[in-house]
Amino acid sequence: MTAVACEPRPHGCRDVPVLKERGQHEVFCGLTGIIWLHRKMQDAFFLVVGSRTCAHLLQSAAGVMIFAEPRFATAILEETDLAGLADAQTELDRVVGELLERRPDIRQLFLVGSCPSEVIKLDLQRAAERLSDLYAPNVRILNFSGSGIETTFTQGEDACLASMVSVLPETRTRNLLLVGALPDVVEEQAVSLLSALGIGPIRVLPASRTTFESGVGENTLFALTQPFLGDTHAALERRKARHIPAPFPFGEEGTTAWLRAIADAFDIDDETFERVTRAPRTRACKAVAQAAEVLRNKSIFFFPDSQLEIPLARFVTRECGMRVAEVGTPFLHKGVVGPDMALIEGCPVFSEGQDVDRQLDRCRAARPDLVVCGLGLANPLEAEGFTTKWAIELVFTPIHFYEQAGDLAGLFSRPLRRFQSLNLMAAE
Ligand code: SF4
Repeated sequence: MTAVACEPRPHGCRDVPVLKERGQHEVFCGLTGIIWLHRKMQDAFFLVVGSRTCAHLLQSAAGVMIFAEPRFATAILEETDLAGLADAQTELDRVVGELLERRPDIRQLFLVGSCPSEVIKLDLQRAAERLSDLYAPNVRILNFSGSGIETTFTQGEDACLASMVSVLPETRTRNLLLVGALPDVVEEQAVSLLSALGIGPIRVLPASRTTFESGVGENTLFALTQPFLGDTHAALERRKARHIPAPFPFGEEGTTAWLRAIADAFDIDDETFERVTRAPRTRACKAVAQAAEVLRNKSIFFFPDSQLEIPLARFVTRECGMRVAEVGTPFLHKGVVGPDMALIEGCPVFSEGQDVDRQLDRCRAARPDLVVCGLGLANPLEAEGFTTKWAIELVFTPIHFYEQAGDLAGLFSRPLRRFQSLNLMAAE
């Protein structure tokens, strides 16, 4: 049987020095994760304990119609709470009681901390424990922080999943846990590929319902599907589960390497691996090659935002022929993104954290063809003549695994094509 592969690619750099910056930064807060988590977890409810600003962020970002019954809400801390004149814990008990009475379908309730609740040091862990005692076993009550103080927006999901790990039941069964919230159709593709390889039982975190959750223990092997899950990774290791390190499943090469690492952990032979992956790999190679035509030899600069930056830098250098000027990431966890770093070509500047003005200066000096950045930086950079891509779009769009590889390349090539068209129109 002939092995399928795109063009052979040289190896990159894992141990280059990392520029660490701790200055002013531009990111959304962790509450943003609720937008995709509430859709994924069908029996969960997210109660943000925050301010009107938090409520506005969620309402406008999630775009839920007013008459729908969304699975999130904000318990607004009023001035009396903030000034310590009211007992916020008693108020919270009342709000939770009313909510659970009105929504008997809720099986897990997350109390989500925010900047205001952290500033007044409202102890949501204590609240979650107290309320769990009251409402168990019908409702499980957990807490995590989505505050914008020293976080970035994908950390909301990480904090949420990490809080769930501690309450998963113990199991001795050998199983595979896929960790990270994916769109349903993408999750089905992953499970179907892994099942075709003969791997199982497979469970996902987060599950769509608490009743579908898996146990965890020393015979659990887990694979991350998102690179921003450092705390969840640590929480699973504390439960003795073993991580399968691998590049992330973006593009043909990333997906193959991710599947290969899991297949090796489950002793799947090469022939089976080739048979199962051959056709989708071929499709992915073709789709990427088509979409990436415009990307070859173009340069790209990643501002730190989603924490997807390092795996995406690997994808654009190795599969799309781009050059990376700088890859910035809010946090760099080598235990998680090390395999991707090892493959990145051309050893760009790696930076962790941000000092936005200095980084803007480096970007201006590099004059990249494409800049991936947060919403707050995109418009000013466009006004300076840069072509930009919103980092948040890469989180909201299905980009994992073989069938989405072409779309992923398309997300990078579209702004460049638009730029080329505008230039042509201007020249006419
Ligand atoms: S958690 Fe903080 S940053 Fe996020 S919306 Fe609320 S106040 Fe703003």
